[in-house]
Amino acid sequence: MEQLLASALEEMYGKGIAQASKEELYSALLKVTKEKMQGMKANTGKKKLYYISAEFLIGKLLSNNLINLGLFEETKEVLKKYGFDLAKIEEAEPEPSLGNGGLGRLAACFLDSIATLGLYGDGVGLNYHDGLFLQKFREKKQYEDKNPWITKDTWLTRTEVSFPVAFGDFTLQSVMYDIDVPGYENGCNKLHLFDLDSVDEGIIRDGIQFDKMNIPKNLTLFLYPDDSDEAGRLLRIYQQYFMVSNAAQLILKEAKERGADLARLDEYVTVQINDTHPTMVIPELIRLLTAEGLDMDTAIAVVSKTCAYTNHTILAEALEKWPVSYLRKAVPQLLPVIYELDARAKAKYPDERVAIIDGQDLVHMAHIDIHYGYAVNGVAALHTKILEESELAPFYAIYPEKFTNKTNGITFRRWLVHCNHSLAEYLDELIGPDYRRDAANLEELLKYQDDPEVKERLFDIKLAAKRELKNYLKETQNVEIDENSVFDIQIKRLHEYKRQQMNALYAIYKYKEIKKGHLPARPVTMIFGAKAAPAYVLAKDIIHLILCLQQLVEEDPQVRPYLRIVMVENYNVTKAEKLIPACDISEQISLASKEASGTGNMKFMLNGAVTLGTEDGANVEIHELVGDENIYIFGAKSREVIDLYQTNGYHPSELYNQDSQIQELVDFIIGKELLCMGDPVSLVRLYKDMVSKDWFMALLDVKDYIRAKEQALADYEDRDAWGKKMIVNIGKAGYFSSDRTIAEYNRDIWHLTEE
Ligand SMILES: *Cc1c(COP(=O)(O)O)cnc(C)c1O
Repeated sequence: MEQLLASALEEMYGKGIAQASKEELYSALLKVTKEKMQGMKANTGKKKLYYISAEFLIGKLLSNNLINLGLFEETKEVLKKYGFDLAKIEEAEPEPSLGNGGLGRLAACFLDSIATLGLYGDGVGLNYHDGLFLQKFREKKQYEDKNPWITKDTWLTRTEVSFPVAFGDFTLQSVMYDIDVPGYENGCNKLHLFDLDSVDEGIIRDGIQFDKMNIPKNLTLFLYPDDSDEAGRLLRIYQQYFMVSNAAQLILKEAKERGADLARLDEYVTVQINDTHPTMVIPELIRLLTAEGLDMDTAIAVVSKTCAYTNHTILAEALEKWPVSYLRKAVPQLLPVIYELDARAKAKYPDERVAIIDGQDLVHMAHIDIHYGYAVNGVAALHTKILEESELAPFYAIYPEKFTNKTNGITFRRWLVHCNHSLAEYLDELIGPDYRRDAANLEELLKYQDDPEVKERLFDIKLAAKRELKNYLKETQNVEIDENSVFDIQIKRLHEYKRQQMNALYAIYKYKEIKKGHLPARPVTMIFGAKAAPAYVLAKDIIHLILCLQQLVEEDPQVRPYLRIVMVENYNVTKAEKLIPACDISEQISLASKEASGTGNMKFMLNGAVTLGTEDGANVEIHELVGDENIYIFGAKSREVIDLYQTNGYHPSELYNQDSQIQELVDFIIGKELLCMGDPVSLVRLYKDMVSKDWFMALLDVKDYIRAKEQALADYEDRDAWGKKMIVNIGKAGYFSSDRTIAEYNRDIWHLTEE
């Protein structure tokens, strides 16, 4: 490495390692690492997987790629010899802004595991120039700015691959960029990101405003452009079709290169449709295959054996339905195929609940996937059960054999080895490094659950991570936190179902307690990180509330020593990597039945945090694995919640009127303390929603939540018992390795073989 780095620096800047700046070192390391990846063995096979996703939240790549190449330690040592710190050099790397939250991060973890297991499979997505917006706080509110991340030093490599993509009124010529995906001590795959040369960042004004009608200039500017108006919704269709038409053309081109008989495409290709955004790949493949000479029956039959669908949500608003009229405008060539698919489905299954095109001329994208895909999976045991028994029950009755569960996972390379190096090293020392290959070996740790020395070491590692986070927050946001306090962290997209508002009610509770003189045994630091979708008014109101509470506590000398509230700006992968190792209490408090899986919960567990959560998503499986002693569970169960929705049985106003504690907490939102520093319109709107609608039932669970959190904080004082909880959580986290998840996808859905 030393030699390679030295000659790269010499060639690029005419300098030696000792003379180089951090930016120059980063550029040179990028170049060397890219070349190393080009020299890797490529995974191959007869059959190839295409994982199509609107998001790939890949995070910074330098350390991760070095880890997977087996060059991380060596590189660190070389740099250290010259007085440099790899972590500091990495600060020069921009984080690719290609995802929003868990779904995109999952796709990134999956690419890592697919390559690591030696499977032949590439990712396909879009190369958004400004990705998801950059979040800034101004006057205690979220402000969105553009987030350009593509610089001259980039992991992207422009390829010669290019396809025409025809829309209703015009045709655009794509260009494909690649990012290498090296497996951990195994072969290399690729992430293909399609783009347009005509896209023009110059059309962006005032943050993230732009002309939504100018498709050639705007198509790959942003991930999830605002779809609160018709032009925005049309733009999403243009983006989705651009993604899948390119994917379909690439799939057929490569299949032909491998000598495929297109009538037997399923023997050469499998397509995983990550949520409904890529659904149009089904009619597009059918359209292209008929253009290649296949008859309609054969094309439909073979595509139905090629595509599989992952469902990520049961929230009605997140299940995409596009008006036929929009599709007619944007992608008229697909309509005959969609009509054909709809007619065939209706002829066989007249039940209107399973129709592709409904009575209002809306095309239900998920229904295309289920009728014309060969597998449908949920992402955690509870989620799959809800799909089968409630949300997709009419489909489950028709196609029970298609349904399967694949509980999500995370890559331990990034979420342990990279983000918590000292914990990984200590684990190596204690139980040997085998867990890096086979995560189930983490269970070896359980034999130390009563070992005081191991517990003390784990507390020391946690404290060091807290100090690092403290320094980072001081540098980046100029806030001061106490590393000896309990770190209670909720970081995830802002959504009412995830219930940051309920956590805010806890903050109000704690503030009032401290004001009354009921001081906690140990100070508490509540950390939030979350972006709200730009058009999601209530989510922004919740951010405003949290930022008001942050200021309130900050300015109150009586409360400040015992309670701190910090909202981290622009939550992303890089921030997650700093926050998660420092966490004591992992907040996973979604309304039961609403969080399909969650993966943040797994990252925290792996890093020795204890979950405070509802019986939702993968929390259920975490609970089963660690047992009652090592998790804090509270709140209504999913059955109860589903019943409340079905019977319209939830009335927050009753809880508010009948319970003075709830009333006091909610009233605080529009009390004088907050109104004098915040925006009354925003606070009153949030208050009114909470007492009259509260769609995600924060008031239903808030008291049990407060009880459970107080219990967790009290238990933290028993170091011996808490140390055991840390050990059990880490030791049982092996199940949540995405290597396990991907092995299951392959065994049950993809059937790829290593070659
Ligand atoms: C893991 C991760 C998520 C998903 O978090 P959940 O708590 O599962 O919603 C979102 N954003 C980032 C940056 C992540 O790393």
